[in-house]
Amino acid sequence: MSTPNTDTANNAAAPAPSDFIREIVAQHVAEARYPQIHTRFPPEPNGYLHIGHAKSICLNFGIAREFGGVCNLRMDDTNPTKEDIEYVESIQADVSWLIAGWADKHLGLKAASEPFFASDYFDQIYEFAIMLIKKGKAFVCDMTPDQTDDYRRNAKESPFRNRSVEENLDLFTRMKAGEFPDGKCVLRARIDVAAPNIWLRDPLLYRIRHAEHHHTGAKWCIYPMYDFAHCLSDYLEGITHSICTLEFEVHRPLYDWILASLDLPRTLPHQYEFARLSLSYTIMSKRKLMELVTEKLVTGWDDPRLPTISGIRRRGVTPEALRAFAYHIGITKYNGVTDVAVLEHAIREDLNARAQRRLAVLRPIKVVLTNYPEGQTEQLSAINNPQDEAGGTRQIPFTRELWIEREDFAEVPPPKFFRLKPGGEVRLKYAYIIKCEEVVKDAAGNITELRCTADLDSKTGGATSARKVKGTIHWASAAHAIDAEVRLYDRLFTEAEPEKDGRDFKTVLNPHSLEVITAKCEPSLRDATPDARYQFERLAYFALDKDSAPGKPIFNRTITLKDAWAKEAQKA
Ligand code: ATP
Ligand code: MG
Repeated sequence: MSTPNTDTANNAAAPAPSDFIREIVAQHVAEARYPQIHTRFPPEPNGYLHIGHAKSICLNFGIAREFGGVCNLRMDDTNPTKEDIEYVESIQADVSWLIAGWADKHLGLKAASEPFFASDYFDQIYEFAIMLIKKGKAFVCDMTPDQTDDYRRNAKESPFRNRSVEENLDLFTRMKAGEFPDGKCVLRARIDVAAPNIWLRDPLLYRIRHAEHHHTGAKWCIYPMYDFAHCLSDYLEGITHSICTLEFEVHRPLYDWILASLDLPRTLPHQYEFARLSLSYTIMSKRKLMELVTEKLVTGWDDPRLPTISGIRRRGVTPEALRAFAYHIGITKYNGVTDVAVLEHAIREDLNARAQRRLAVLRPIKVVLTNYPEGQTEQLSAINNPQDEAGGTRQIPFTRELWIEREDFAEVPPPKFFRLKPGGEVRLKYAYIIKCEEVVKDAAGNITELRCTADLDSKTGGATSARKVKGTIHWASAAHAIDAEVRLYDRLFTEAEPEKDGRDFKTVLNPHSLEVITAKCEPSLRDATPDARYQFERLAYFALDKDSAPGKPIFNRTITLKDAWAKEAQKA
C-alpha cells in the first residue's frame, strides 16, 4: 500500500497527520525499502500506562495502520524485580481500549490478549551475547558498580577488559548457571573506553539477578540490560522503525553497534526519536505516579484524577478523544510542556458531539409551584442531543414540587443576574416560566423553600409559549428525582509545573481535587449505562463510575462545560 490511510483518529474526512517520522516512513514506503512497515510499542510492565504512553501508542499503531503495516505490543520485561503480571494485564487492557475501533488486520497484536514479551527472547539474546564474546566484543567484568561508573567517567580501561575469549565464555556460562551472587560480575560490551558518547564506553550487557520473573519464572538468574535486549527484540520481531523518546537518542549509536557487530542476516531495524509528552498540572512518570498510589494520596492507579490511561478512561474520556488529542499535538523533536487545556478541549469536543443531555441538580433547593395542581404529573419532551438529529427525545416528569440549583437563586442578586430572584422570572428548561413569590426560611435564617407561581401559558413548545425571559435553568421533579452520588474531580495539582525548580510534587496537591455530593437527577438516569456519556445540562459532562450498583448510580465528572481555570487566570 503506498498511500496513507486517510481515516485518522475518528473522522473519515480528516487528513492523515503528518510529521517528520511519518514523512520518513512515507519515503521508505515510496522506495519499497521494506516488504512491510513494522513498528512496536514496548512498555516496561513496572506500572500503569499514562497519557505519555498514549502518545506513543497512537504514533506506533497509527503508523502501522496508515501505512498498511503491523505494530507489536511488546512487554519490555528485562528487569524482574520491578515488574509484575498486574502491570502486564493493565497494559494490555489500556492498549486494547485505546486502539479499539482501530482493531483491524493491520495490528501486530496476535490477538488483543496476546502481546509479545522481550523475555521470550532470552534464549536468543543469550546466544547473541555468546556470539559477541566469541568475536572478542564482550567481556566479563568483576568491578563493582561504583568502580565501573568511575572508570567509565574517566575513560579508564577495566582491568578485566583483556580476558581471553575462553575465560569470558567460561565465566559467562557460569554466570548463567547461577554460580555467582548478584553483583559479583557483569557482561560488558568491548567498544571504546574513551568514546565521546559515554554509552559506548564498554556498556553493561548482562547483570546477575537471582529473582523470580513474572513471565520466565526461575529459569534465569542473568538478565540482559535494556540496551542489549531492545535492539535485539526489535530485530527478532522484524521491526523496521523503532520509535522512542528523545532521551534514547544518545543510545542510538549503541543500538546500531550491537546489531552491526553480530553480522545479522536480515534487514536491521532503525531507531527514531521524538519528544515525549509533558502536560501541565500533572506528572508523568510511572515511578512518581506509583508514589501517589502507594502513599494513598489517590485511590489507585485508575483514580480519575491521575493521567494514567485507566484513570482517564474511568473519568469518562473516550478513546476517540484521546486519539484526537494525540493527533492534534503532533510529533516533534523538541521537548516542551503541553497545556492541559489542549487535552480538555479535545475531551469537550468529543463529548459535546456524543453526550446524552440530562437534567440533574447538584446542590438542590426546593421550589413549590403554588398554582400548579397537587398530584399532577406532566411528561415534557426533552431533546437527547442537539448535536445529533437522530438522537431523539425523551419524557421528563414535571410536578408541583421541584429541585433547582441553589446557585440559580439569589436573594440579593448581583447586577446582570438573569436567574431566579425574589419577584423575578426564569424559564425552567423544557417547561414553564416561573416567578418567585416568597422565600421561606427556617429559624436559623437558611432558605428552605422558594414559593413560586408558574405561567401556565408559557410551556416550551406550546401554542402560547412566545413570551421570553432572559434566564433558563435546569430542574428535577422532587417526587421523581433519583439520588446519585456525584464525584466532582478537578486537577490534581494547583501548579502548572508541579516539579518546577526541584519542588516536591506532593507539596502542591490540589486539596479540592475531589468533592463528593449527592445530586437529584431526572429519573431516566436510573438506566444510565457505563458506555454512555452524559451532559448534565448547564453543568458538566459525566460518566457512570464502575463503583455503581443497581439503584445506586455514581457519576464521575469528566470535565466541566467551560474551563473554570481559564476564568480564574483572567481574574488574577
Ligand atoms: P516513565 O518514565 O513514565 O516510567 P518509561 O519511558 O520508563 O516511562 P516505558 O514503559 O519504558 O516507560 O515506555 C514505553 C514507551 O513509551 C517507550 O517507547 C517510551 O519512549 C514511550 N513513552 C514513555 N513516556 C512517554 C511520554 N511521556 N511521551 C511519549 N512517549 C512516552
Ligand atoms: Mg522505561
